[in-house]
Amino acid sequence: MAGEPQADCLFCRIVAGEVPATVVRESATTVAFRDINPQAPTHVLVIPKVHHPDAASLAAAEPEIAADVLREAGQVVLDEKVEDSGYRIVFNTGAGAGQTVFHAHAHVLAGRGLTWPPG
Ligand code: 5GP
Ligand code: ZN
Repeated sequence: MAGEPQADCLFCRIVAGEVPATVVRESATTVAFRDINPQAPTHVLVIPKVHHPDAASLAAAEPEIAADVLREAGQVVLDEKVEDSGYRIVFNTGAGAGQTVFHAHAHVLAGRGLTWPPG
């Protein structure tokens, strides 16, 4: 069922505490943790605790939780003190766009120059 934990999903396992992660924030509906392979000095992933395969699916099914993800991403920006230097919030969606974990997640990237357009 949509939103239910998936036994074979890495991020559901992080939510369940079965896989360790460096958690920087947690709310009732979200977890934020450092990316294991950071692409910038600040690289934090913000995920909903519920399982949806991508951000648009999450927003369609549970829009309040999609808003929670964005709000928490904004709090990560404040915690990391990168609001003035600029930052990027990214939702890779689909294998062709680089998505490798099919549990919705926002990347918060900051701390270096970020070129546009992204690769
Ligand atoms: P995607 O490529 O799906 O947009 O992003 C998935 C992200 O999850 C990648 O940036 C990858 O480095 C990160 N990642 C993959 N496995 C783990 C893990 O076990 N722990 C953490 N903290 N991040 C992970
Ligand atoms: Zn999941």
